[in-house]
Formats: sequence, C-alpha cells, structure tokens
Amino acid sequence: MQRIIPHYLIIVCPKCGLVQYIKEGQKSRKCPNLKCKKLIDPQRVIIYAHSSDIHKAVQIVQQIKEHNVDMHEITDIKSILEEVDND
Ligand SMILES: [Zn+2]
Repeated sequence: MQRIIPHYLIIVCPKCGLVQYIKEGQKSRKCPNLKCKKLIDPQRVIIYAHSSDIHKAVQIVQQIKEHNVDMHEITDIKSILEEVDND
C-alpha cells in the first residue's frame, strides 16, 4: 500500500498572521513578511491545508488572502478550501 504524502503545507505565521505555504519536511522557515521575519517552526503551527500540488498550494494561499480571512475562524477557511477543490 502506498501512502500519499502531502508536499506543501498551508500555514499562518503565529506572529503576524501571514498566510503562506511551506514544503513538508522543512525544519524552519523565516516569515517572508519583512516587518516580521519570525522563524517559524512548522511542527508548532496549525496546518490549515495541504497539497501535493504546488499550484494548488499557491491557489489556496491566494484564495485565503483574497477573502481576507481571519485565520482564527476555521469554519470560513474550510468553505474556501472547498471552493478551491471544486475548481
Ligand atoms: Zn510573520
């Protein structure tokens, strides 16, 4: 049996709230927000979504940004992700 491994994880910077994706297995990432630059530990943040397709990961990040979603409201995120899936 083959396990499907997600390659890209959608996360939110715990300091500034910037939505971004990281490659799975990446040990740490500096937040791309120049005013923030927090070193994010992927194992200590919530994974909102994941995708093995980088284009889809980018699309999800863009959808969340376009909708200006408050990442604390997880129900909204789910509906947006469903929208992406229905494309
Ligand atoms: Zn940040």
